[in-house]
Amino acid sequence: MAEATEVGYYKLLLEVALPNMVRHTEACLPHEAVGIITNNGSVYPLINQRRSEREFVVSKLLVEEALTQLHSRDLVGVALYHSHPTRSAIPSEQDITMMQQTPETVFVIQARDFVVAYTCDDSQGEPRVVAKLEVPVG
Ligand SMILES: [Zn+2]
Repeated sequence: MAEATEVGYYKLLLEVALPNMVRHTEACLPHEAVGIITNNGSVYPLINQRRSEREFVVSKLLVEEALTQLHSRDLVGVALYHSHPTRSAIPSEQDITMMQQTPETVFVIQARDFVVAYTCDDSQGEPRVVAKLEVPVG
């Protein structure tokens, strides 16, 4: 189980980030969007190099460049988000593989109905939910 303080932190982070995240994910339709949520809840859009409705690819280099840019503005990337335009906010097999490869990273999946933050940091390597919010309609 996630710690209460951790849940509170990520819930608040999602609340702050959600409007801009939704704007970005809608702009990327029909493809999956991908980006970074920073420590102040702002979002930094990345490019889905796959341009797919069912998966996203973003190179390590692009992510590192983004983190450097954020750092120069005294911001820190705290989560990687992507959208599921046609599916629920449940990690795909590919998502789970990615989470297991980077267990220190918090993954946020935004579907039409819910936005969910996951980590994969326990010994089983199973994704666990750290925060979940309903996405407002409209
Ligand atoms: Zn996914």
